[in-house]
Amino acid sequence: MRDIKVLEVRCANTTRGCEWIECVGTLEEHVAKCEYTLVECTNKCTVKAKTVFVMRKDLEHHVQSECPNRAYKCKYCTEEGTYANIMEDHDNLCLKKPVPCPNTDCTLTLERGRVVEHVASECEHTVVACKYHSIGCPEWKKRKDIRIHEEDDKIHLRLSLNKVSQLDGTVAQLNHTVSQLSGAVEQLQVVVKQLIGRTEKEVSVSIDVPDFRERRSANDMFQSEPFFTIPSGYKMKFIVYCSGHGDGEGTHLSVYTQLLDVPYHDHLQWPFRGNVSVKLWEYETIINYHSSEAKPGGDPWEGTSCFLSLSSLHIKLASVAMRSWYDKRLDDTLHFKLAIQENEEIH
Ligand SMILES: [Zn+2]
Ligand SMILES: [Zn+2]
Ligand SMILES: [Zn+2]
Ligand SMILES: [Zn+2]
Ligand SMILES: [Zn+2]
Repeated sequence: MRDIKVLEVRCANTTRGCEWIECVGTLEEHVAKCEYTLVECTNKCTVKAKTVFVMRKDLEHHVQSECPNRAYKCKYCTEEGTYANIMEDHDNLCLKKPVPCPNTDCTLTLERGRVVEHVASECEHTVVACKYHSIGCPEWKKRKDIRIHEEDDKIHLRLSLNKVSQLDGTVAQLNHTVSQLSGAVEQLQVVVKQLIGRTEKEVSVSIDVPDFRERRSANDMFQSEPFFTIPSGYKMKFIVYCSGHGDGEGTHLSVYTQLLDVPYHDHLQWPFRGNVSVKLWEYETIINYHSSEAKPGGDPWEGTSCFLSLSSLHIKLASVAMRSWYDKRLDDTLHFKLAIQENEEIH
């Protein structure tokens, strides 16, 4: 009788070490649970983009201690993830991981999160500037050595003195700048005055001619301080011939106005168009700029040679003096009132 052994077969995993030998009828059943059958990692891990297979008997060990996809916790901090995440990415960033100080001579190992502060303000091997850097000391040394250098008073005293003399120079320059600026401010104030004046229709100016009798006998020509004809900032001066001029010479008081030049000349309309009313007590004359060239420094001046006869003026002064006598004072000043009007409709 032939032996039944001819029907026996070996497991397909024989090469991986399975020693199972059985009859054909049960082979399929065996392979389904054979410890040597290759199975896919339950974490679906891959190596070089290929799915990892392990023998069924090794699966538990792989998943617990080899699989890169297994759950893992950083041993320095509480960060959780897969083994691969923690060891490849997180490990290079973990702020709690001890790392050596980057200064080559320093032997300290400290948490990565403290390294910046340590190097910046503690490490004896960091090269730092002398604390007198701002007054010109060029010295840079390791922190442990710079303290000895900083105690050298001689070097630093000399540097301080240099710095003080430099600062003196700077102060002088600043003073110069300040005085230049005040000049500019003054100019601006004039312009602002003019701009404010633009809202006014008419400008009044009071001009006093003191010591009239004396001026009259001296044949004096009185010239006022320049004034601005706001609204638009023409500059003028007022001229009085105390014993007359031209047709009025020796008989009348002569009054004129003269336009003066200004730095902002180009911003004004030329020729100037307007009226200047000149008043002395009840006497008034209107100086009309409509027909004149009216340019700055223009000659002849605009005005009248026969404003008020000197005889009328003397009667007036005598009556004023009479009233002043009661006031215990003698008024010998001519108080002129000027009103300047610009004619806006003419351009
Ligand atoms: Zn087997
Ligand atoms: Zn795996
Ligand atoms: Zn960590
Ligand atoms: Zn250090
Ligand atoms: Zn120094």
